[in-house]
Amino acid sequence: MNKSIRILFPSRCPVCDRPVPGLDEGICLPCTETLHPLKEPVAVKSAHIDFGLALYPYRAIAESLYRFKYEGRQEYGAFYAQEIVKQHGQTLRLLRPDAMVPVPVHRVRLQKRGYNQAQVVAEALGRALSIPVRDDLVNRVRPTAPQKELNLFERRNNLKSAFKLTENDVKLESILLVDDIYTTGATMDALALLFRAQGVKRIFFVTVAMESLS
Ligand SMILES: [Zn+2]
Repeated sequence: MNKSIRILFPSRCPVCDRPVPGLDEGICLPCTETLHPLKEPVAVKSAHIDFGLALYPYRAIAESLYRFKYEGRQEYGAFYAQEIVKQHGQTLRLLRPDAMVPVPVHRVRLQKRGYNQAQVVAEALGRALSIPVRDDLVNRVRPTAPQKELNLFERRNNLKSAFKLTENDVKLESILLVDDIYTTGATMDALALLFRAQGVKRIFFVTVAMESLS
């Protein structure tokens, strides 16, 4: 970046949003000391998902994710992807999914927001790991109420028939679903069920954050 521009618009830490002059990528020093990635894979309860990874505990990155999702901070996607590669790159390379599938948002929400946050992460991650991103395989056909406002039972119902595959024959052996947050797993489960029914043999996911509900 041009130096004079940097002085006018100091880079901000993607985690705490404090201005950090000279910061090109990565996070500010205080955040590096307090933000710790999750080391263990997600304990997946779905029978359709083989393996799941998340980068941070939700509480540690909640405000950053909010700005990423609702305040136009698309550039955070590159940071999240970079950190996913640092933390889980080796595992993802071993899993070698044929494609990444970002969890789709409904077109009405997409129009309002201007981008699908899951896709932004997937694109950056796909570039870093040389895995193709397929955002053409599945659509969100029903706008769903924000999951956070619902209880567990409502979440499951909310997601039933929320997604629809665009073709009947998904010619992929394995996929990596990508999303910003993993909460109950109901979203991933609903998607995995659809892909499994079309013969996808191995289904993995990676998310920026995992919310522990306990
Ligand atoms: Zn910070």
